[in-house]
Amino acid sequence: MIYKPYGMTGPSVSAVGFGGMRFDTTQADAKNAELLCYAVDRGITYLDTAPGYCDDRSEDIFGRAVKMLGRRREDVFLTTKGMPESSPTADKARQAVQKSLTRLKTDYIDFYHVWCIRRMEEYELAMRPGGQYEGLMQCKEEGLIRHIVVSTHLRGPQVKTLLEKNEFEGVLLGVNILNFLYRWEGVVAAHQQELGVVAMNPLAGGVIPQNEKTLAFLADDGETPTEAALRFCLSCPQMTVTLPGFTTRGHIDTACRVADRAEPFTDAHIERIRGHLSKNMDTLCTGCGYCMGRCPVEIPVAGYMQYYNDKLLGGKTDVEMAKELDNQKKLGFLVGARPAGDCVACGRCETACTQHLDIVRRLNTLAEWEQQPAWRK
Ligand code: SF4
Ligand code: SF4
Repeated sequence: MIYKPYGMTGPSVSAVGFGGMRFDTTQADAKNAELLCYAVDRGITYLDTAPGYCDDRSEDIFGRAVKMLGRRREDVFLTTKGMPESSPTADKARQAVQKSLTRLKTDYIDFYHVWCIRRMEEYELAMRPGGQYEGLMQCKEEGLIRHIVVSTHLRGPQVKTLLEKNEFEGVLLGVNILNFLYRWEGVVAAHQQELGVVAMNPLAGGVIPQNEKTLAFLADDGETPTEAALRFCLSCPQMTVTLPGFTTRGHIDTACRVADRAEPFTDAHIERIRGHLSKNMDTLCTGCGYCMGRCPVEIPVAGYMQYYNDKLLGGKTDVEMAKELDNQKKLGFLVGARPAGDCVACGRCETACTQHLDIVRRLNTLAEWEQQPAWRK
């Protein structure tokens, strides 16, 4: 395992982090806690969770693991998060920290994120007098938090603005081998300020492992596209931690194996990838689920957008997409789904979307596919 200093904070952390958003929730929490301990045995020290992950069980799973680790808790770095909108005041921020501490069964949180900044208004909400950041600073003074960091889905110049006042010691960014052409400015801005940089969604929310055939161009000889995607982030000097979401020991083993080699990409390899990437790859749904529960007419937005990924990745024709949509509605993951054509364009899902997707326009296209029975013959 490689260990890197987390910005200017002092500690070195493992280059592979444990993303706690993809536990197998059909399993008991104790079993998932064992998975976390297995990762620590493999040398992973950066352990990332948040309230709400995995049907809100992730922090409790981490708490069980912390108990199992005993004194080894001192050797790892626990991170969790709080959104400005759910902690709009300093008191609420403090309550959220206390709740996380109780669930994590620990006296301190190593890295606490001002979570999910999608628009500058959310940052301003966190920073206003008497707001979340002030509450977190108090927690830091009392030793409940060691470092205040930020997670953001802003792009390029806005990331720079977010970081320029030096209020945060590190940043969690959605960057990977498919979208780096469009997201790199944020990474550079953070690195230049000597902050810890953590890459979330290094596998594009599972899109890369699920589409290895289509994405074969990512890989070099002897590696899979998934391994190439991990290697891309792990070998970047600008990135401190790469944060895949783990479900099995096999996932952990793969990431650790890649990290042990982590040979940098050659210029020729980067050029080859660049030649295959398109703006489409920056607009994939990552399945993060932040849009869920917002739709007044109960359209399963995430499901439809994951389906739409096939159009962006595979270049399928409209006829093929319409036929497959029909199949998915009859037999697949869209059985019983409210038609895309029922969207009333209120925009709530777009406001919530971490990837800034043009969901309403995509749903219009899906509605056309729904209404073309001739395509389905
Ligand atoms: S824009 Fe459409 S899909 Fe999105 S929340 Fe509003 S009605 Fe639902
Ligand atoms: S549509 Fe956006 S918010 Fe919803 S799951 Fe996909 S990326 Fe996440």
